[in-house]
Amino acid sequence: MSESRVSIDSSALRHNLQRVRQCRPAAKVLAMVKAQAYGHGAVAVARILAAAGSDALGVAHLDEAVQLRDAGITLPIALLEGLVAHEALDTVAQLSLQLVVHQHEQLQALLQWPGQIGKVWIKINTGMHRLGFAVDEVAAVRSALQQRGGIGELGLLTHLACADDRQDPRTDHQLRCFAEAAAGWAEQDTSVANSALILARPGQECSWVRPGLMLYGASPLLGQTAAELQLRAVMRLSSRVIAVQRLRAGDEVGYGASWRAPRDGRIAIVGIGYGDGYPRTAQAAPVALRGRRYRLAGRVSMDMLAIDVGNDEVELGDEVELWGPTIAADEVAACAGTLSYELFCRLTQRAHRHHL
Ligand SMILES: *Cc1c(COP(=O)(O)O)cnc(C)c1O
Repeated sequence: MSESRVSIDSSALRHNLQRVRQCRPAAKVLAMVKAQAYGHGAVAVARILAAAGSDALGVAHLDEAVQLRDAGITLPIALLEGLVAHEALDTVAQLSLQLVVHQHEQLQALLQWPGQIGKVWIKINTGMHRLGFAVDEVAAVRSALQQRGGIGELGLLTHLACADDRQDPRTDHQLRCFAEAAAGWAEQDTSVANSALILARPGQECSWVRPGLMLYGASPLLGQTAAELQLRAVMRLSSRVIAVQRLRAGDEVGYGASWRAPRDGRIAIVGIGYGDGYPRTAQAAPVALRGRRYRLAGRVSMDMLAIDVGNDEVELGDEVELWGPTIAADEVAACAGTLSYELFCRLTQRAHRHHL
């Protein structure tokens, strides 16, 4: 049996949703649960968020929305990446999903498709150049959709490229472009802010915010920790010590013999590795054991990793936190040259899931 375990703390999730409300008291919350709620488990997270008063959920793909509806989730769900195929639009209508329209092919498909749809968000490209209509196309898209009829409401949204860096001038530029496109927009529904903007500019108002990462308790802002932002880790990834090795100064550890003991001492071998989704690229990442912090020694293997415990007391079966309330996932991500977003999403099915 694998010793690795993913525990999900619903009270931390509710706390982080409350942080969104504190930052944007007047906004409605479209909580992002794409990619299995950033690896936390979409259905379980959606249930907690629904009970805690989230106004809507956001996913990238149709099958993600289908999974939530199959599980009995009745909140509004928005499909962020849009769709073209008519059969898919039929499903959107059957499941009362909201649709994001971001390109002409999709607009044409929607104009030709005969069904009714509750809400359509028009996505504008304000500078990220990934998805969205140009600012000067928005008026035409809007009137095409209005003429079509059969659409309950229209909304306007955009996505920010560099909001993680408070100093980046591109964010203001994107906000100005959005304001220009939304000028004269009588409809109520507008949405710009991701987690980074919600935290960096509390009080900035659009009618909807779209938090993702901050709900899960990691920091979306460069140079600021989740603790400084008063976020609480929702996921705790843990495993157990499966062996303890005595080392002489100079002994080398693991594949490639990349770590050499600086002194006599011990290392603890922990039963988790990249087969569970712990990043192989992590170097000297922190872990917590018996309330103390230690660092990885050498390379991460598929099923295990080693930590340098010096001469401290360690026993077989001791629990080790890889990330969670004690070790910020952001810190591990930095040691692995990536972001906590990726660490969460890359966990495999091997780790046992557990909800608190
Ligand atoms: C994923 C996503 C978000 C949430 O971003 P975070 O940085 O996790 O807050 C918001 N909007 C869109 C369009 C997204 O795809």
